[in-house]
Amino acid sequence: MKRARPGTTAGSVTRATVAGVVITHPDRVVFPALQITKLELAQYYARVAPLMLPHVAGRPLALVRCPDGVGKQCFFQKHWAGTPPPAIDTVPILQHDGTRRRHVVIHSATGLVTLAQWGVIEIHPWGCRADDANLPDRIVFDLDPAPGVAWSTVQGGARQLHRLLGGQGLDSWLKTSGGKGLHVVVPIARRPSWDDVSAFARAIAEQLQAAFPDRFITKASKSARRGRVFIDWLRNSRGATSVAPWSPRARPSAGVSVPLPWPRLGHVGAGDQYTVTSVRVPSADPWRELLTAKQALTKEMLRRLI
Ligand code: ATP
Ligand code: MN
Repeated sequence: MKRARPGTTAGSVTRATVAGVVITHPDRVVFPALQITKLELAQYYARVAPLMLPHVAGRPLALVRCPDGVGKQCFFQKHWAGTPPPAIDTVPILQHDGTRRRHVVIHSATGLVTLAQWGVIEIHPWGCRADDANLPDRIVFDLDPAPGVAWSTVQGGARQLHRLLGGQGLDSWLKTSGGKGLHVVVPIARRPSWDDVSAFARAIAEQLQAAFPDRFITKASKSARRGRVFIDWLRNSRGATSVAPWSPRARPSAGVSVPLPWPRLGHVGAGDQYTVTSVRVPSADPWRELLTAKQALTKEMLRRLI
């Protein structure tokens, strides 16, 4: 990536502006291994904003913040206490313990870049919209290979999920996780409960396990996962999150979760193949059809599977 430096000649720069947002400490290195600065991360967010926003705007967001960069202390932030900065909204959502807590919601590119200014590296939406946290509209399957598992097995798992879901009449979409694996995402009309969505995701994951028990496992326990790909269906409950398409990961490789058309699956060699500096940002969203897909998790599907 071209090193963009604001217009000063000597000394360290203390502020820069990206998409109208003042970035403090723009020269601060966020990814030490690749020498990616806070300014470059903010510019990355500005660049992917048109593609990323449709998948994150209006949803409750959890955030991974690394105020001193990757490799230093990072924290997973589920709530936002106090007054948020401009362009960041907070929405009160009922918690499992009966209290209401405020969750971050953004609506604009300015909001995305503001998050980068606040030390946010990763963005993790809920599978629902902030206006009704009881109605899921996305199902996520996370393929997590145990150490040593061949990448072709992860690819095969994604392909099989695509096929199993297709067998139920549901189209699904693929992305790299930006880390170790792949994610398969199914948009659905806002009708079923979290319990139904979770039971459905589990049933599909169990079908995959039943078909290839030596390759795939639906139990989270580390010992059971040995040599297999864990099909994590547990992302599909109220308050659970998974990393957003186009979000960078707070890991040394600076991997990015990249949406891909299914024919590209065979050409991807790792979950972190695409990085903040290497990813080519297409002009059209590879997931645009996900945004308009008219499909539903029906009572019949649930009856058939559960
Ligand atoms: P990989 O492909 O490397 O597995 P991933 O995003 O699928 O990448 P993890 O980083 O293991 O997998 O994901 C943990 C998930 O759990 C995140 O997507 C996040 O949304 C969620 N999560 C919930 N609570 C936390 C927490 N306290 N810290 C980190 N992640 C959390
Ligand atoms: Mn994973």
